[in-house]
Amino acid sequence: MRVLLAGGAGYIGAHTALALIEHGHEVLVVDDFSNSCIDSIQRVEALSGATVTVIENDLSNLEASRVALAGHDFDAVIHLAGLKAVGESTEQPIRYYRTNIDSTLNLLEIMRERAVTKLVFSSSATVYGTPELLPLREDHPVGNNITNPYGWSKAMNEQIIRDVQAAWPELGAVLLRYFNPVGAHPSGQIGEDPSGVPSNLMPYVAQVAIGRRERLSVFGNDYPTDDGTGVRDYIHVMDLAEGHVAALEHLRDGVTAYNLGTGRGSSVLDLVSAFEQAVGIAIPYEIVAARAGDVAEAVADPSLAHAELGWTATRSLADACRDSWAWQSSNPNGYGA
Ligand code: UDP
Repeated sequence: MRVLLAGGAGYIGAHTALALIEHGHEVLVVDDFSNSCIDSIQRVEALSGATVTVIENDLSNLEASRVALAGHDFDAVIHLAGLKAVGESTEQPIRYYRTNIDSTLNLLEIMRERAVTKLVFSSSATVYGTPELLPLREDHPVGNNITNPYGWSKAMNEQIIRDVQAAWPELGAVLLRYFNPVGAHPSGQIGEDPSGVPSNLMPYVAQVAIGRRERLSVFGNDYPTDDGTGVRDYIHVMDLAEGHVAALEHLRDGVTAYNLGTGRGSSVLDLVSAFEQAVGIAIPYEIVAARAGDVAEAVADPSLAHAELGWTATRSLADACRDSWAWQSSNPNGYGA
């Protein structure tokens, strides 16, 4: 298939581009490069030997997007374009809602105009809000006590896609609810390149290991978990990327949500020790206050994706630590450095 990868130059986008190419698909990336750079795509091209069409465009502008995409044919859209920093979303809600909602509306409008009927949407486990029952299944209620505009924008996008599909039955859409993506391509050529101080755990740990940060702050140790620190389902980004390919290749009528996770929970301290073991570098840390809006635990039940997409996460947390380090150590300052 010819796949339009919206937000394809970002962390998950670049890995998904590579997985799509490895599965014989053609990739067109549309990205505004507000939080990414062309280097990631150049490295995807070098790793795969394929050419990726790159369209620089801000999808939250409908007219500009119509013009930018005119003359490019595609059979399906994978939509990963959006802003994703939880803390920033509480400070800049208008920007977050405008970017994350308008880009989806515009993509859907253009898809409808051009009769492109396949959509894979990048959602998040955040749509479950504060989980009541673990592990999380796709029929868990969405929107239960979501604590930030980023999370709401994902839940709203899911609803928009459902409403558009109800009015346009030819549309087939998949909502992929990511758990915590970590790791990098094992080559260390592409990876997560956060701007400024990383807000996510794994890139922060990797920057402590390389000496860019002194120590990790562990956000709280009195959660009702085994060691008191927050528990998450960390999924290797290559598993996640392959989940997109599986979703695309099994796309059917209607709208279906799938969890992309491993089903295994790891605490902050579990991740720190997995990293120390995989990499052989001690990670100094201190316990600080819990971060506002964090839940104690979020772990996926990934069995639906296994049953219906034939997909399952195969890589371990140790693999993710090793690959994050391969990326961090060969690119100490990220892309372009
Ligand atoms: N965390 C931490 N220190 C950090 C960043 C994150 O202790 O510098 C914890 C956070 O409280 C959560 C887990 O690590 O329990 C994963 O956080 P992350 O921001 O990576 O993902 P989230 O689950 O919040 O989307």
